[in-house]
Amino acid sequence: MELPYQKIFVTGHRGMVGSAFCRLLARKHPHIQVITAPREQLDLTRESDVRAFLEANRPDAIVFAASRVGGIIANATYPVEFLSENVQMAIATITAAYELGVKRFLYLGSTCIYPRMAPQPIREEYLLTSPLEETNEAYALAKIVGLKLCQYYRKQYGVLFHSAMPTNLYGTGDNYHPNHSHVIPGLIRRFHEAKINGAETISIWGTGKPRREFLYVDDLADALLHLISIHNPPDWVNVGSSTDISILELANLVARTIGYQGQILTDPSKPDGTPRKLTDTSLMQATGWTPTIELGEGLKLAYEDFLTGLSNGNLRSQ
Ligand code: GDP
Repeated sequence: MELPYQKIFVTGHRGMVGSAFCRLLARKHPHIQVITAPREQLDLTRESDVRAFLEANRPDAIVFAASRVGGIIANATYPVEFLSENVQMAIATITAAYELGVKRFLYLGSTCIYPRMAPQPIREEYLLTSPLEETNEAYALAKIVGLKLCQYYRKQYGVLFHSAMPTNLYGTGDNYHPNHSHVIPGLIRRFHEAKINGAETISIWGTGKPRREFLYVDDLADALLHLISIHNPPDWVNVGSSTDISILELANLVARTIGYQGQILTDPSKPDGTPRKLTDTSLMQATGWTPTIELGEGLKLAYEDFLTGLSNGNLRSQ
């Protein structure tokens, strides 16, 4: 696969998605210079700072993987930060990229942009057809602004700015915070601790009935590379695995992966979130891409990553 870029700026390179994408670029396209900027050096919410950074570094493509992210509780607890930081980062970076003549911009969103009661599997055109899920409305609104701004730039000024909407991600470099993480890292941590402590029961949040679709982050990195290599990408496209599983089934799979043999209880006092979130991935498939890491294998890789982080003392938990 040929990539006509010499310098790619990856925002959010310390996050799960950004770091996976940087690893993949280094492996598959070692000649491409990857530009990154730690948060202490560049505040992506400030357009003038982003512009100065782009002027100094002159990337020809940007992969935007910087976001304030979190699981269901974090989203519901900090809606102000989830909306304002994500909107500001998107507007500042997309605007500065256009002004500095960046040739290609790939913006990362999430499938939570779709309506809570969207027909399943969710197709791209269901965007903005009915109300959003309340527990992640702030994040979803911000991501809709980002994808629309890319779409408008492309339409109004003819630049190749476009977006990818991944389903629930997990894997290498995940955030294992006990309350703020997403379900897979949250369960890996709690089930591991329950195994070590010999706990006879463990509870998972909610009723266990909601269904979710999961994608290993290295698959997403591969999808992003594919998307920036094709000539006429969709304005926004779902990136998923096309299969979903109930949270209780997931918990059983995590227990098996970790070797926890106690009883799994549900905790309906915690929120369930949207009942089902399965994406239709036919648009992405039509561009010539499908994922390769299935959930059972991915959970093993994720647990290995968790154990490595634990033993090295550098487990992400924030
Ligand atoms: P969502 O897809 O935006 O709802 O994000 P999450 O990954 O945070 O949650 C997915 C589902 O897993 C929700 O129904 C949660 O209630 C459920 N869940 C069960 N146990 C946990 C847990 O320990 N952490 C998280 N984050 N979710 C959990």
